[in-house]
Amino acid sequence: MVNEKAEEKINLVDKILEQIKVYREEINAQEVGIVLDSGDGIARIGGLPGALVGEMLDFGEGVSGVVFNLEMEEVVAIILNRHVMVKEGHAVKKTGRIIEVPVGEQLLGRVIGPLGKPMDGLDDLVCDEYYPIENSPPGVIDRKPVDKPLQTGYMMIDATVPIGHGQRELIIGDRQTGKTTLAIDAIINQKGKDVVCVYVAIGQKNSTVAQIKKTLKEHEALQYTVIVNAPASSPSSKQFYAPYAGCAIAEYFMNQGRQVLIVYDDLTKHAHAYRNISLLLKRPPGREAYPGDIFYIHSRLLERAAQLNDKLGGGSITALPIVETQNGDIAAYIPTNVISITDGQIFLTTELFRANIRPAINPGISVSRVGGAAQIKGMKKVAGLLRLTLAQFREKEKFSLFAADLDERTTHQLRRGKVLIEILKQKQHRPMKVIDQMLVIYAAVNGFFDDVPLEKIESMRADYTEFMKRQASALYEIFVQEEMISDEHKTELNHIIKQVIKDLS
Ligand code: ATP
Ligand code: MG
Repeated sequence: MVNEKAEEKINLVDKILEQIKVYREEINAQEVGIVLDSGDGIARIGGLPGALVGEMLDFGEGVSGVVFNLEMEEVVAIILNRHVMVKEGHAVKKTGRIIEVPVGEQLLGRVIGPLGKPMDGLDDLVCDEYYPIENSPPGVIDRKPVDKPLQTGYMMIDATVPIGHGQRELIIGDRQTGKTTLAIDAIINQKGKDVVCVYVAIGQKNSTVAQIKKTLKEHEALQYTVIVNAPASSPSSKQFYAPYAGCAIAEYFMNQGRQVLIVYDDLTKHAHAYRNISLLLKRPPGREAYPGDIFYIHSRLLERAAQLNDKLGGGSITALPIVETQNGDIAAYIPTNVISITDGQIFLTTELFRANIRPAINPGISVSRVGGAAQIKGMKKVAGLLRLTLAQFREKEKFSLFAADLDERTTHQLRRGKVLIEILKQKQHRPMKVIDQMLVIYAAVNGFFDDVPLEKIESMRADYTEFMKRQASALYEIFVQEEMISDEHKTELNHIIKQVIKDLS
């Protein structure tokens, strides 16, 4: 009897000791800090000496934040949602996880926030994998030169400023010059080309993003696209993280050996979001009140675009960042920064847009520094002549303003230039196949459209490619296979073009 009681006691002591042990372990696993001061979405927290930069913090009740500054006695965090809930004295838990986003095939066709929360009213995402939203870019050894073309469907781009897989091409211009449309059409043109697209909307209206989603859906492009949305109504912190999150999603697909196209719309608003955060964090303001590391935040984002080598699967991320200018001033701070980080720029102007020359690309200062290496041979051939003729036209056009009577050769060149400008106009959401582009440019630079009235050129262009596809399908098929207009078929093609134009005039 006595023995039994003693045994029971020992058992109880063991149990208590065990409980205490577990209890201690729990405390060790979670460092808890305390909010010292909070306001404007920023919290100063004491008692978290082990916190890492970029680590997620749990403020309880679903409120989360990210460590932004590490200071002597405290850490400074930005709060990602419902920041008014965070008050002085609030407990804050470290999570041990660096800010991350869910990745996977499930994201295709979805609209999500920068942390992976659905924004399209559909079910929550169930993903097995998470990627940190900040990541170091692939090194030089991991990459290979750009060698595959990324067709945008716009003749003006694919012929004169071609883009290659893995390239970073900036789309820059004033408000309402067709920047977003250009990028969205490049996504639409990837249909059937096995390219995954990511569209990152930063600081835009939700209604604009809804319209973009609708457009993509109508053109059957949503199923291979992920939209990451940090609208104007969301906190600066979310707008700041959105492009990095989009890039992490793109990296997941790139690491699977897939080709990815990512659009950042736009980095001007991204810079504004970062400036807001920095000023609230009392970081010293520099030029135009931006903090000193504004260049670095964009370069570390765009460096992550890459064409991986074959050993790493040959995947790629092509980036189309967008930047908005004021009054066409590309020499302002953010535009010059981003121009110097990218491999070329497509410059859109209000004057051309208003003159109904759309896409309103200014050919004079639009360049692509690496894409030429990836341009298909057949296009390179016709595009060379196109660029030359356009340059000659621009030169003569200036003279023609002063000269009263022009010689025949100049008149002819002016006329040809006007035809080319007309040929290169393209309505939105009507991307052209590269072979059709080649056929049209070939006919135009060789003067077949010279006598067609300018207002008829657009319909003539469509009728001509349609005729090739239907009535001259054997020849058309040869061009598709060879990806060029070879010399041996030129006579036959010239004959057809003459006939089509005669019949339709
Ligand atoms: P914002 O500065 O507001 O973001 P943006 O530069 O992105 O503007 P878009 O929204 O793409 O410009 O286009 C502005 C308007 O021009 C839209 O109504 C669009 O439909 C029209 N547009 C754009 N490109 C073309 C085109 N190639 N042909 C006809 N209309 C076009
Ligand atoms: Mg836009």
